[in-house]
Amino acid sequence: MKKYNFNAGPSILPQEVIKQTAEAVIDFQGEGLSILEISHRAKYFQPVVDEAAALMKELLEVPEGYSVIFLGGGASLQFCMVPFNLMEKKSAYLNTGVWAKKALKEAKGFGEAVEVASSADANFTFIPTDYEIPQDADYFHITTNNTIYGTELSDSKLADIYSKLGRVPLVADMSSDILSRPIDVSKYGLIYGGAQKNLAPAGVTFVIVKNDMLGHVSRYIPTMLNYQTHIDGGSMFNTPPVLPIYTAMLTLRWLKANGGVKWVESRNKAKAELLYDAIDHSKIFVGTARAEDRSRMNVCFVLKPEYQDLQDDFMKFATERGMVGVKGHRSVGGFRASIYNAMDLEGVQALVDCMKDYERKN
Ligand SMILES: *Cc1c(COP(=O)(O)O)cnc(C)c1O
Repeated sequence: MKKYNFNAGPSILPQEVIKQTAEAVIDFQGEGLSILEISHRAKYFQPVVDEAAALMKELLEVPEGYSVIFLGGGASLQFCMVPFNLMEKKSAYLNTGVWAKKALKEAKGFGEAVEVASSADANFTFIPTDYEIPQDADYFHITTNNTIYGTELSDSKLADIYSKLGRVPLVADMSSDILSRPIDVSKYGLIYGGAQKNLAPAGVTFVIVKNDMLGHVSRYIPTMLNYQTHIDGGSMFNTPPVLPIYTAMLTLRWLKANGGVKWVESRNKAKAELLYDAIDHSKIFVGTARAEDRSRMNVCFVLKPEYQDLQDDFMKFATERGMVGVKGHRSVGGFRASIYNAMDLEGVQALVDCMKDYERKN
């Protein structure tokens, strides 16, 4: 039976990318060696890193003066690397979920980290707008897509933030919506994310940093935690995550060949509309996120109060129909369908049919 992969992360990748990765594990570019056993310094691997960085720049239209680097440690390491490198005394954070809160916690270890607003009291079901950004902060940090709660900063909410910034650089965790829509990179001082949601298997983190953001803090920054080290080393200061970078490059090629982020944005819109429409017209399901802040990547929904006892039964029904990973995060409950770039409309239609068929029999 065909499986439909709605996992939140690590998550779905394009089938052809998985096949090409498997081929490289057996024989890397006809060299008679596996990608698992070649030196990262080998002549064949440097072009992979270079192409991956160049494709990130091309697809996201990254302006001059920015560097793209690939690191280990996950997005979670960035929670401390960002303040370590960018925060002298003060920073500001928008608290829109567990990941945002974890980022804020790390910044508190380096000085005054201000939480400008939070939707914690409403279990992060919306994106707050009523706040100002302190003009003496070294940066303002946002999480553009809140993977667990299914909320996302829409283009209009992002525009509102850009207008509020003043002189303060913007830093964003884009782990779960990178490359899902066009983004104006020139508005950002730094963008980072774990690649395992929309780009690659777990193990590699991307960082897009404006070069003039660096070199302004007075503390000693350990060599491995200093962004400049990795810019100077072309992501090869130490052994990089070779295989995940290779897969990332293949995913970027796939995205480019299909029409880039504009193409994937329209596909993502169509997928999200199809699924939210089914939820909004459902007798038994209801969405959890405020409509204007709904994520196009992670769609969260629960059973209406009078149908609560069907939780396990629906999970069983969905699993029998090949739906994988539809269980909600434990802090929200219910269900979450992650419909990242690699998920096609047909997959979302299969989930919608499954929900409707289940509804009909109850
Ligand atoms: C998954 C996720 C993280 C954590 O990423 P790791 O690579 O596991 O550290 C951080 N932020 C967001 C928005 C995420 O979705």
